[in-house]
Amino acid sequence: MYFLSSGMRIGLDNGEGDISFISHAHSDHLNGAAKREVVIASKETLELAALKANISVPPNVKLLDSGHILGSKQLFLEGDGATMVYTGDLRIRESILFNGAEVKECDKLIIDGTYADPSYKFPDYIELYDEIARWVKENINANIIIGCYELGKTQELIKILNDYVGIAPIINEKAERFCRIYERYNIKLDRLVIGSAEAEEEMKRGFVALVPMHQAKRYFARRLSEAFGRKTLCAVATGWALHYRYNVDKGFALSDHADFYDLKSYIEQSGAKGVVFHSGDGTALLKACGLPRWQKT
Ligand SMILES: [Zn+2]
Repeated sequence: MYFLSSGMRIGLDNGEGDISFISHAHSDHLNGAAKREVVIASKETLELAALKANISVPPNVKLLDSGHILGSKQLFLEGDGATMVYTGDLRIRESILFNGAEVKECDKLIIDGTYADPSYKFPDYIELYDEIARWVKENINANIIIGCYELGKTQELIKILNDYVGIAPIINEKAERFCRIYERYNIKLDRLVIGSAEAEEEMKRGFVALVPMHQAKRYFARRLSEAFGRKTLCAVATGWALHYRYNVDKGFALSDHADFYDLKSYIEQSGAKGVVFHSGDGTALLKACGLPRWQKT
């Protein structure tokens, strides 16, 4: 997928065209773009993705916040008599770490459709943060492991646990590298790194650890219960937990994407007459907005 403007092709989270736009540092958006020497991206994205490329933003391009993770941007392009926006991954509501995505009027829109299904209506963030805090406090003497992605969701959960429960969770080295970059951009995160003396001390009593999604399973929790001689509970934090059952004690529908209703509001505010989805199937959403699918030429 690419945008064409004044004879220049801009690859959208891929290595197509003359220059690539990297919306954010999640690995599924880096693809061929990571090999480029010059890219359109934010400084934060390059640091999180550990890329050495130089940044060059053409004069007819503007980067807009997308509210998804640190440094995540949408691309706004003006050219050839039309305006276009590519959102990358998008979160429209304000979260504990970031403002919601900026919305700019445009003619054509390529949007995140991960949850473009009417059955996805995420809870209010404050209610969700309260629910997570309540569950952790209720089980404060147990070990708790929460499965989440190391970039984005981990930092959000650290902040929730810091502010709503007053504890510093234990994280792994990979997540720690991302946390250090968040801190360079003034997002303070109180956490302990596994293997450190502080983490060892914390593990003498019930602790909270944020782990990769594949480790958040009941059998892993059972092994921890045996190893520590202490009850261990596991949870996941993902938007999919709204409808899918995971092999865990608790699922929190905490997503850094927009739900169906957020997307509908974004599309309506943008005034776009042509909309396509870079992920997911947006048929129901287009119908709800009364729009035809924009066939890219
Ligand atoms: Zn993402």
